[in-house]
Amino acid sequence: MSEASLGRHLVVEYFECNPELINDVPYIERAMVEAAEEAGATIINSTFHHFSPFGVSGVVVIQESHLAIHTWPEYGYASVDIYTCGEPVDPWRAFQYLKEKFASKHSSVIEMLRGQPSQLKKVPFEAPASASPLDPATLTPEFKRHVWFTDRDEFIALSLRHTGDRLYRVRSPYQLVEVYQTYAYGKMLACDGMVMTTEGDEYVYHEMIAHVPLLLKPDAERVLIIGGGDGGAAREVLRHSQVKEVVLVEIDEKVIEAARLYFPDLAQSFDHPKLNLIIGDGIEYVSKAAKGSFDVVIVDSTDPVGPAEGLFTDAFYRDVHRILSPTGVMVTQSESPRFNVGVFQKLFDTYRRIFGPENAHCYLISVPTYPSGTWSLSFNTKSGIHPLHDLDEARAAAFTEAHGLKYYSPAIHKAAFTLPRYVQELLEPQKVTA
Ligand code: SAM
Repeated sequence: MSEASLGRHLVVEYFECNPELINDVPYIERAMVEAAEEAGATIINSTFHHFSPFGVSGVVVIQESHLAIHTWPEYGYASVDIYTCGEPVDPWRAFQYLKEKFASKHSSVIEMLRGQPSQLKKVPFEAPASASPLDPATLTPEFKRHVWFTDRDEFIALSLRHTGDRLYRVRSPYQLVEVYQTYAYGKMLACDGMVMTTEGDEYVYHEMIAHVPLLLKPDAERVLIIGGGDGGAAREVLRHSQVKEVVLVEIDEKVIEAARLYFPDLAQSFDHPKLNLIIGDGIEYVSKAAKGSFDVVIVDSTDPVGPAEGLFTDAFYRDVHRILSPTGVMVTQSESPRFNVGVFQKLFDTYRRIFGPENAHCYLISVPTYPSGTWSLSFNTKSGIHPLHDLDEARAAAFTEAHGLKYYSPAIHKAAFTLPRYVQELLEPQKVTA
């Protein structure tokens, strides 16, 4: 009976799947493409996305129609359409293949026969001349993959298209560490689905988190970096020859491993003779470090979830204040005034309380691969160093030239502290929400 219809359409329910597998975009895309191959289809393109808070949607277009999926990891459930036309393609082979790939314990299928001859009537139709069946491009179209990584919250997202082949994926005791090859920004490091850094724009964040404090405090000899396991902040700090020691405390050795394997330009700093790399919890480290033992502390952390949650508390910043020398400076990654408004406001409220209202300054950077693109750093000083008045511009200009910096310059340094009015308003103390 099935031979008689134009198309065969399997409407499939996969139950009790492995939730991890059906929440993994590259894994699902690969499985769907392989299922199409298994069925004997010719693949034209694939488009896959991740959805908030979880779940994946995607489609593989084949010359003989399509395979489509939507998953609900929280129910261990995937619904799949496998629609094929033409006899040599067997949709049941694709069905069986996906059942195994998703580790589904049971499933159900309805097979619909599409375009049954008894209901069809031939009409006069001639294919346009350009669509000659002998045109090799028509016979074997190029397979294009559209697989996307999305960093998002409930309302805002940033998506980067990647090759679909993940280079690194390890679930460490702290987080999921991944490396993707993106088209627009080269390799990208992500922790728990959040963009940490990309080859294409890493210099923005790393130059600004390192050179602003170190050019404002040119006598700094001892620098502590909390987090920063990609190595980028340390690479920039180590350009300052007066620095005698950089202690980098990163909690997750898997981030260091991923950086060493895939970001050698950032990870070069790990082997620098002045770098003391400690795998450990930054919160514990600052609680035990001696009073006044660092001139600059850089908090280069992930967002305030998971292991980094404690890096956003009063207690942690009080410890940082204590371990700074009398003219010491703290710089932090202080989230986005667009993406994480509440956290951003609370952080600056905390800095003002601990360092004094005149000594906590916000500066902005433009990072294309962070959600919203607008990101903030904070500059906090114990002794009232002013981020604009105390900058030795000639020295900063010479430094910029000598190191061929790509984002930092004395002009950008000064401009970064000029805040748009909406950010000024967010930072007014009375605006801080509970
Ligand atoms: N530029 C990045 C951003 O804002 O997206 C931050 C990059 S860096 C890779 C952040 C690092 O902080 C991660 O490798 C993470 O493991 C580390 N981290 C998180 N919590 C930590 C803690 N309590 N102590 C030390 N390192 C921590």
